[in-house]
Amino acid sequence: MTTILPPDETLSTVVGPVFRATDEGYTEEVMGFNVAYMPSPSLVVGATCDTDVAAAVRYATELGLPVAVQSTGHGLLSDLNGAVLVSTRRMTGCTVDPVARTARVQAGVRWREVIDAAAPYGLAPLNGSSSTVGVVGYTTGGGLGPMARRHGFAADHVLSATVVTGDGEIRTVDAERDPDLFWAVRGGKGTVGIVTEIEFELVEQPRFYGGGIFFPGEAAPELLHAWREWAPTLPEDTTTSVALLALPPDPQLPPPLQGRFVTHLRFTHLGSADEGAELIAPMRAVAEPIMDLVDEMPYAAVDAVHMDPQSPMPCWDRGTTLSSLPAEAVEEILAEAGPDSSSPLVLVELRLMGGAIARAPRVPNAVAGRDAAFSLYCLGVPAGPDAAVQVPARCSSLVESLAPWAAGGLVNFYGQAGPARLGSLWSDADRARLLDTKRRYDPAGVFRTNVVIG
Ligand SMILES: Cc1cc2nc3c(=O)[nH]c(=O)nc-3n(C[C@H](O)[C@H](O)[C@H](O)COP(=O)(O)OP(=O)(O)OC[C@H]3O[C@@H](n4cnc5c(N)ncnc54)[C@H](O)[C@@H]3O)c2cc1C
Repeated sequence: MTTILPPDETLSTVVGPVFRATDEGYTEEVMGFNVAYMPSPSLVVGATCDTDVAAAVRYATELGLPVAVQSTGHGLLSDLNGAVLVSTRRMTGCTVDPVARTARVQAGVRWREVIDAAAPYGLAPLNGSSSTVGVVGYTTGGGLGPMARRHGFAADHVLSATVVTGDGEIRTVDAERDPDLFWAVRGGKGTVGIVTEIEFELVEQPRFYGGGIFFPGEAAPELLHAWREWAPTLPEDTTTSVALLALPPDPQLPPPLQGRFVTHLRFTHLGSADEGAELIAPMRAVAEPIMDLVDEMPYAAVDAVHMDPQSPMPCWDRGTTLSSLPAEAVEEILAEAGPDSSSPLVLVELRLMGGAIARAPRVPNAVAGRDAAFSLYCLGVPAGPDAAVQVPARCSSLVESLAPWAAGGLVNFYGQAGPARLGSLWSDADRARLLDTKRRYDPAGVFRTNVVIG
């Protein structure tokens, strides 16, 4: 017989701190990287272990409240109003097994910790463009990083996960145990449960020739057209993206880049400097760079490829994937976001997909969008009344202008979307399997904030 505990008794086992809106420390706890939202959960559990997470889920279920989870706030897409928020930032366990070539990390770990823990053994994780992003939020959403064309999505390399499901149970899942749940947490983001720990394969630390080349923004037309023809010719050992960036007048940026609109070519070659230099030579010849930072470097310096912002900022974003990138599609991007477009966006990024990204993993998972040829992602800073209207409008018009080539989307790069639009990223069969798995493991539907698949 199940005993229904009064709410406070349910939380009495929680080891970590519990914050209500009027408590000191609440604001610091809920703020994340994306400061466009001031989260307003009704209660925050500063979880230290899986039993803290389970208590928070049971507490929310008893009160009929939604449950949200946050590690870094890089993927904050809503204000989490009224939810019970599980804050995982205290769950920082991270161990590397150099013999098995695996890492086991808790829900509050960021990529930097794994990169640094794996490096002494000549190993590396499949982190994304910024090592300040959380491992679990990234991986549950697929995870497309600078080595993706050789190794695929981060989610393709997960071996097991411990998950607190909507019924408050703690389950360790892998290819044999709860295979539907294991399938769903690798690509379905946090829609079926809160992952408290994951174990995943590491790869051999590569020889790494990469970085970024900043070109003047005015060279965007030549560069984007050259990139769309050059990128698909690259081998799988090479991953590339190109971005139109409106850089802020930030004194931490190199002086020639401060406050400038630039075209940023990103390049990662897992091989020798000579091979890499030969591969990138055609792009180097397109225009005179402002700064050429592509060179041989240790894998630990991988953040240098994208040079993503490290400090919190307000973000409004949207993305799509494309089946091809013909000249007409590039012209649409330039019209919406090029140097003469008066675009309010600060980033428009095209990533080359293909290679290992397109191949199904050994143990199939719920990652959507793997068969696209390119990913497009755009982001603006919705600060001030004009920008709060103009940024979403321009993100939408850019994405809509690419509709003839649209192929779906990647959940990590999809931005603000209602359940139906998000659900449309999966095939009918995969969407049905995700929703069915959710019904089984989250019967009360407690996970219904931030990322909701319908
Ligand atoms: C600067 C920047 C660079 C990025 N680069 C890349 C990139 O190269 N490739 C890529 O694929 N994505 C990238 N992203 C997107 C990023 O992977 C997602 O926003 C991801 O959700 C962030 O996870 P987080 O835990 O850091 O963020 P949070 O805001 O803390 O979490 C966001 C969401 O992740 C899920 N989540 C978090 N923790 C858990 C958990 N313990 N269990 C279950 N679900 C959980 C939940 O749905 C949660 O709402 C980038 C984002 C930013 C802002």
